[in-house]
Formats: sequence, C-alpha cells, structure tokens
Amino acid sequence: MKFRTRAIHVGNEPCPQTGAVVPPIYLASTFMQHEAGKWRDFDYSRSGNPTRSCFEHTISELEGGAGAMAFATGMAATTCVMAMLKSGDHVLCGSDIYGGTYRLLHKVSNRAGIETSLADSTDSVAFAKAIQPNTKLVWIESPGNPRMTITDIAACAKIAHDAGALLGVDNTFATPVLTRPIELGADIVMHSATKYIGGHSDIMGGVLVANTKELYDELYFVANATGAIMSPLESYLCSRGLKTLELRVREQSKTALLLAEWLDTHPRVACVRYPGLPTHPGHDLAAKQMEGGFGAMMSFDLDGSFDDTKRVVESTKLFHLAVSLGAVESLIEQPASMSHASYDAADRAKHGITDGMIRLSVGLEDFEDLRDDLTQAIG
Ligand SMILES: *Cc1c(COP(=O)(O)O)cnc(C)c1O
Repeated sequence: MKFRTRAIHVGNEPCPQTGAVVPPIYLASTFMQHEAGKWRDFDYSRSGNPTRSCFEHTISELEGGAGAMAFATGMAATTCVMAMLKSGDHVLCGSDIYGGTYRLLHKVSNRAGIETSLADSTDSVAFAKAIQPNTKLVWIESPGNPRMTITDIAACAKIAHDAGALLGVDNTFATPVLTRPIELGADIVMHSATKYIGGHSDIMGGVLVANTKELYDELYFVANATGAIMSPLESYLCSRGLKTLELRVREQSKTALLLAEWLDTHPRVACVRYPGLPTHPGHDLAAKQMEGGFGAMMSFDLDGSFDDTKRVVESTKLFHLAVSLGAVESLIEQPASMSHASYDAADRAKHGITDGMIRLSVGLEDFEDLRDDLTQAIG
C-alpha cells in the first residue's frame, strides 16, 4: 500500500465491538485485570493506552520503524533519548538545529555530565572529525533550522555507526512524506508532532520511532519510567492529522517553492534559503533525499537592520507573527529574537543566524494571497 493509504488505514481499524470507523478515544487511566499479576494488553495509561497505541502504530509504519512512542511534546521525546545517556557520554550535534534542542543539551543535559558539541553536519568530513572517543549519539536535522541546510543522513549514519554511536534524526521539517531517515540508516527518528503531524496549531506532541525492537525496548523503558506521555485526546488528533499529512505537505511544499522563487527575485531580499532552489548548496542532495518536494519551511535575509526586519515580521496580515510551524496557517518570525533566542549570541553569530533573517512556515493558503501579503509587508 502507498503512503497515503497506510496513513488512513494502518492503526485505524474499525472498532470490533461497534463497527465505528474511527477508533474511540480511551480516556481510562487504568484497566481492569482478570487475574492478579497477569496483565492484559493494557494495564495503566502511562505504560500504554489504546488511543495512543493507534497513533504510535501508524507513525511507526509510516517511518518504517520497529516501534514508536508518543510524548507530551517534541522536547519530551528528545529528553527521553538524552535520558538513555549517562555521565561522561558525548553528543555530537549538527549546528543548524532547533533552539530548544540547543538549550536542552547545553543547559540541562550538561548538568548530568553529558557533553555536547556542535559541528557543521553538511560537511561530512569535518563532521566526522568532531566525533570523540566518548560519542554515543549523533543528532541532526535536515532541513536544518533556521538556515535550511541539508545534511546527508546516510553519510551521518555511517559516521555514527563507525564510532559505535547511534544516529538520531529530528525529522520534524521533512516529515516521513518527504524523508524517511530509518531507510537511510538512522536509528531513531524524532518528531515534534506539534508541527506537521498535528498540522492545525492546536496540539502539542512528540514522537520517537526506533529502527529495531531492542532500541524500542530501551527507549520505552525510559519513556515509561519518566512518564511524559501523549494524552488520549492529543493521540486521537495526531491520528487524524496523519490522514491528511501527505496532501498537506505536498501542497504546502508547492506553494513554498513558488514563494521562494518569487522572493529570490525581490530587490529587498538579500538571500533566500530554500532547498528547492537550484542555487541552494544542498539542492542536489535534497533532490535525492527528499521525495517529490522540498518542504514548506524557508528563511530569507532582508537587506536591512534588526529593526527593519522586526518591522517586516510585524506587518504581515495573513502570516501570523509566531514561532512554531507546520500548520495550515502560515507563520512568520525573526529567529534572532524568537525561535533561536535561546542560543547564546556568540553561537548565533558563529552559526549564521543573522539579525536580518526571517523564517516562514508556509501554510495551505493560496500562493497569490501569501505573496501579496509579503509584498505589502516588505514594502
Ligand atoms: C518544535 C520543534 C521541536 C520541539 O517540539 P515541541 O513540540 O515544541 O516540544 C523540536 N524540533 C523541531 C525541529 C521543532 O520544530
């Protein structure tokens, strides 16, 4: 079965008792047992819940994994991976990453003695050199955030595995519609389900997908022990979101490409970062690694100061000024003051997050309406 068919049918079997074509939302926190000490499929909803299981089943299937776990937020999912590590371990992380992941690694995981270094994951040779004898995890995003860099996932899998480390890929931007990291050698796929999976700016959620049963069991142990699980209602909304994921991502990607091409010719725009543009340094790799589209995220540099940029992001009418991404409504933001404010200023400068940078999450609105909105805002 093709992706969009599986997204609708796998994990969404009609209820055997009533025939309901949408599985019910199970709110129960606990499940009655037949016998003491002999568990049925479910015992307690932190450990497992039927509604959550449905969503986990679908997303694991779509990513090609051996099992998935759903969390309260994307950061809870990432925290679960970091909680598998121990004092003295090292995480090698791409430098174009989510601001919250930077904060978790540099300001929380470090307290437990876990060491992190950032390196440019688009340069496989330099990235491999940043491996240390104690590297246990390599963590990347492609496309990266907010510079939209493209990282060779298969090359990173080799770098990690040669060092005896695991490769984790934050696949929030690409979604399994465009990129399936496990097929490219990744061990763990992470999602902020708050973004494209939910797709409507109305839930928070996170996902981990493991490539083997053993790794799933290890992660599940930590997930169950730490308890940051996804609620039944959010699980239901994520299952529902997955059914239209392919349609949304494909359509939003088409509009994003049109906007990127248009911005690229705008006299006030100094540079557009969108992997679908042939001038993007990662374009060829993206064409290989992303299937049938380049995603709906982009950033561009305005030919102007911090304050000019601030004015532009504050003057759009359709694009809402907000962090987050991946929903049906388009969003605009200034990474330096918003999504990446948690980076130290020196790290922002070092990793190319400029004051004039604007990030767009392109939604499902009409291209011409979005273009006209940017036209009036940029001036
Ligand atoms: C939003 C986001 C996260 C964090 O997810 P939350 O659901 O906000 O906790 C992680 N990675 C990326 C790429 C994101 O966009």
